[in-house]
Amino acid sequence: METVFSLLIFIFLVFVIAVPYWLIAEKKKKLIRKMHEKNVNAGMTEPATLHPRIDMLSCIGCGGCVKACPEDVLGMINGKPAIINGARCIGHALCADACPVGGITMGFGKPKQGMEIPFYDEHYQSNIEGLYIVGELGGVGLIRNAFSHGIKAVKHIAASIQPNKIVDTDIAIIGAGPAGISAGLSAKHHQLRSIIFEQDDLGGSILHYPRQKLVLTSPVELPLFGKLQISEISKEKLLDLFNGLVQKYQLDVRTGDRVLSIQKDGDKFQISANSGQCTASSVVLAMGRRGTPRKLNVPGENLPKVFYRLFDAESFTGKHILVVGGGDSAIEAAVGLARQPGNKVIISYRKEEFFRLKERNEKNILEMKKEGKLSVIFQSHVDQIQTDSVVLQEANHEQKVIMNDFVFVFAGGELPSEFLKLIGVKLRTDELEK
Ligand SMILES: Cc1cc2nc3c(=O)[nH]c(=O)nc-3n(C[C@H](O)[C@H](O)[C@H](O)COP(=O)(O)OP(=O)(O)OC[C@H]3O[C@@H](n4cnc5c(N)ncnc54)[C@H](O)[C@@H]3O)c2cc1C
Repeated sequence: METVFSLLIFIFLVFVIAVPYWLIAEKKKKLIRKMHEKNVNAGMTEPATLHPRIDMLSCIGCGGCVKACPEDVLGMINGKPAIINGARCIGHALCADACPVGGITMGFGKPKQGMEIPFYDEHYQSNIEGLYIVGELGGVGLIRNAFSHGIKAVKHIAASIQPNKIVDTDIAIIGAGPAGISAGLSAKHHQLRSIIFEQDDLGGSILHYPRQKLVLTSPVELPLFGKLQISEISKEKLLDLFNGLVQKYQLDVRTGDRVLSIQKDGDKFQISANSGQCTASSVVLAMGRRGTPRKLNVPGENLPKVFYRLFDAESFTGKHILVVGGGDSAIEAAVGLARQPGNKVIISYRKEEFFRLKERNEKNILEMKKEGKLSVIFQSHVDQIQTDSVVLQEANHEQKVIMNDFVFVFAGGELPSEFLKLIGVKLRTDELEK
């Protein structure tokens, strides 16, 4: 009797607890699979920038990484984590921290294509003696890594540098993101002269984060300054902090000065920048991976109303805006701007039609066109940019003058790998996804 009773209780428990639990888990798995399929079609699994790379051989399928990601970038498929929403990744690496077997690294490049990464040794020195690769340029993301690479590279330079008063500076640092700033601080700490060249403004990629974005990082020991005790900070406060460091330690940061070429000449480097020539004993490349936006090279392009990136669509309302380009970034910016109250957006694209856009972008563009907020002029290019208008040239060679407050150019960019090849830095292709 007792056995029958126990059996009944067992069956009851199975039906009340285990079966519903199993049904919910199955439903969740089905949902994740469906979302994965949908996002693959929409191009959302292909991350634009930093994203987790999962080593399936070491993965034990515990799902810790999936739970740790607040952006739902990862999901469990067939008992293993997979990127289901790659485009949402903002690279804070909480997944990597949560992985108990260290099976996640943060990488770049489309997982299916891989990416060219420069060779460098344990001191971040490339195949060219005296030339170092630090931060994101070396294929490793995150602010904490960028800080640490800059410091370690300069420590190695300081240990091996020969005093040479003939050169303009001991270290030429290219890029004023976290890697370049930490390299500059480290140079000061080791009493070495340094110049930091920055084509844009102080801050690197952080400068281009959306307004008030919460930056997640780990506390780090900075030369001269000491422990930078932050784990969460707004983009704006982090940039203020960088500016404070530059002021306090009098780093020689030359903003708006792009380095065009670098050549090794005996035991020194010749650096050619927009501002002129300079010689250095060592070079630290802290250029990140965003590249340099391609320009249109038309009259008026230097007006302050011309941008090459969209920081924050919400800051633009009630304006006539021209977006130049037909790729996904141009469409995403145009749609984002068209959604703001009162904006009239025109896209100028040199081809007859858009080619291989993400499904989501095709849908959004149609929606905005229907609402009369956005129009597209195919087979056109910009002839001239004026203070309150833009002159376009259309397929029939006729000129069209349109009212304009702002121009956003998305004409692609020059990738750092081209620059590296010209200098003679050896590259390897990052492993491809199987
Ligand atoms: C949207 C987004 C969100 C992110 N969120 C986080 C986060 O929360 N936490 C985190 O840890 N990481 C985050 N990351 C990653 C982090 O921003 C980068 O890993 C980090 O900024 C890399 O630093 P870096 O100094 O190597 O390069 P960058 O910050 O990219 O700086 C490189 C600098 O070099 C300059 N440069 C390039 N070429 C030249 C040239 N020829 N001449 C002169 N200057 C040049 C560029 O203009 C740029 O300013 C995020 C990234 C993105 C895109």
